[in-house]
Amino acid sequence: MGTPLSTSSTSANDPGALPLLAGRGLPDFAAITTDQVEQAIPHLLAELNGELTELETRLDARLADGPPLGWAEVMDPLQHLGERLRWSWRVVSHLNGVCNTPELRTAHQQQQGNVVAFGNRAGQSRSLYRALQALDQGGSALDATQRRILQAELRDMQLRGVGLEGEQQLAFNATTQHLAELATTFGNHVLDATNSWSLTLGSEAELAGLPPSLKELLAEAATAAGEPGKWRMGLDMPRVAPFLKYSERRDLRERVYKAQVSRASSGELDNLPLIETILSLRLQQAQRLGYGHWAEVSLAAKMADSVASVEQLLEELRCAALPVALTELEALRSCARRHGAPEAADLKPWDVSYWAERLRQESFELDSEALRPYFPLDSVLQGLFSLCGRLFNITIVADTGSAPLWHPDVQHFHVFDASSGEALAAFYLDPFSRPGSKRGGAWMDECLGRSINKAGEPVLPVAYLICNQSPPVAGTPSLMTFEEVETLFHEFGHGLQHMLTTVERPQAAGINNVEWDAVELPSQFMENWCYERGTLMGMAKHWQSGESLPEAEYQKLLAARTFMGGSATLRQVHFALTDLRLHSAWSPSCGQSPDQMRREIAQTTTALEPIAEDAFLCAFSHIFAGGYSAGYYSYKWAEVLSADAFSAFEEAGLDQEDAVVTMGRRFRDTVLSWGGSRSPAEVFEAFRGRQPSSEALIRHSGLAVA
Ligand SMILES: [Zn+2]
Repeated sequence: MGTPLSTSSTSANDPGALPLLAGRGLPDFAAITTDQVEQAIPHLLAELNGELTELETRLDARLADGPPLGWAEVMDPLQHLGERLRWSWRVVSHLNGVCNTPELRTAHQQQQGNVVAFGNRAGQSRSLYRALQALDQGGSALDATQRRILQAELRDMQLRGVGLEGEQQLAFNATTQHLAELATTFGNHVLDATNSWSLTLGSEAELAGLPPSLKELLAEAATAAGEPGKWRMGLDMPRVAPFLKYSERRDLRERVYKAQVSRASSGELDNLPLIETILSLRLQQAQRLGYGHWAEVSLAAKMADSVASVEQLLEELRCAALPVALTELEALRSCARRHGAPEAADLKPWDVSYWAERLRQESFELDSEALRPYFPLDSVLQGLFSLCGRLFNITIVADTGSAPLWHPDVQHFHVFDASSGEALAAFYLDPFSRPGSKRGGAWMDECLGRSINKAGEPVLPVAYLICNQSPPVAGTPSLMTFEEVETLFHEFGHGLQHMLTTVERPQAAGINNVEWDAVELPSQFMENWCYERGTLMGMAKHWQSGESLPEAEYQKLLAARTFMGGSATLRQVHFALTDLRLHSAWSPSCGQSPDQMRREIAQTTTALEPIAEDAFLCAFSHIFAGGYSAGYYSYKWAEVLSADAFSAFEEAGLDQEDAVVTMGRRFRDTVLSWGGSRSPAEVFEAFRGRQPSSEALIRHSGLAVA
């Protein structure tokens, strides 16, 4: 067995005593250094590999002889092995995200492959697989949570090909490897094609309409490319999106748009042949595993039970969005006509962003920077905490200073049950951006998961909540944009599911074992509250005058939420349906190329048909280079759940305090409490009293027929 951490043995020669291998409690961030990563992780992996071998030998022997296997003989040791690695590796990944240095990044990269290799070894172990099957079929009495954990474990192992024999398994493993390489090549082609295109603008006339921040970006890019005094356009999003939105030069918008949609579709960086190969190989893999096509493999681990149910949801959204998108396009044409623009008669894809921005400014000028003074961090936190108190009967209290922190900006909080006073959880909040040492974006991560330790005592969950908003400067507190407020609420929703779980089996506590098309339910649910009058007006107070957000600004926020909502929904439906059909209906012998199939789908899922140069699939990295294959629909699927959950509060009456409180308790006692211990369909139904409906999402997106 491993070296137990003993406080007396802190010899520098004993890697087992390193703080990075403590394996329990809050990490001592200040005591964890980069060289410990290089020392501790290989040491830990060597130990865990040894223990895994012992476990496999023990299980093989037990299967050959003896009474049926019990949970404690298989699942508990497996969980403990995994947890020791997770505890240490989570600290490394966390610090790599929030306190990055070149040394730490290198150490993280060097060890990551070994950590993944250990996971692969355990996930493909025939001995473990046989033991899990025996546990599943044996006479052991298992409760519903144990059954669900076991089923998920078996399914994941099967999808890694562990159940295949001989030639089939060799072919499966070789293809898995090949697919990983193709995904990398696909992604690199997109990146290289994006970076290899540029357009130098030499005169002010070519910059007509561009905002100062974009001009600055273009000037910097030109200087970096050895053309000082000029402006350089590229195909990266920070330049393309604002250019198409603001440039008054229609000819330049056309050039940029065409270059953007034809990335990686010709020459050395052509992704077209890769697409057919990837789709064909995925189909073969699915068939080796006994499925009809790749979409069935993807759905095996998701809430959506069949391709037909996903198609049905997308069709409901399409029917609601298409007429609205066509009306929106007509409104853009009218706007262009009012301004005497020739494109009014023949609106092209490169005109859409531009006229949408003009129309948006004419309809409601929402200046997101001007709202910042109404959202100082402290008052947003107060608003968020008091909402959670009201809805979920919890109290959130700032820590007095006992917890170890990784940076002075970080705050630590405790969460108590408001009625019993019982401690439930804790979380860290790291709100501000730190360019150079902190990864961008926002996320929630586990620090500690809920479990029962070996001594039979409960371990309380602890969450990391990481945001990237502007830090306070000289006498001014951190003032947030509305978008940053939404992001904080979103991540806090993930945090609530992690922290308020009552499941004691760590494999299904909190967000663990929640199907990923359902995992955004609590996070997007919380975002809805940012638009609720009481919640928003309660926290949006000017940091100097204390004055509430003006009503007109609130109305603009509501209008902005649904502006061009039909087009936005239709776009997501187009992507999701294309992804799903390519992975369920396409085969090399189906008589259509993937591009032809996409264009056929576009006939009913786009308001403006794709132009001839449009090779969108060649840059659809989500499904060809990322993990979203036959899963892109998940964005909309989860939105249906979260909008429908929020609509339970709307139906009860958002101004009916008793009803809101009752509904909030029910949300805590089902969605937040049960986590991954039951199927998401069962959890949702227990909360909502019925199956999910897309009605609320359609209404919130402004697509409902009046
Ligand atoms: Zn999320």
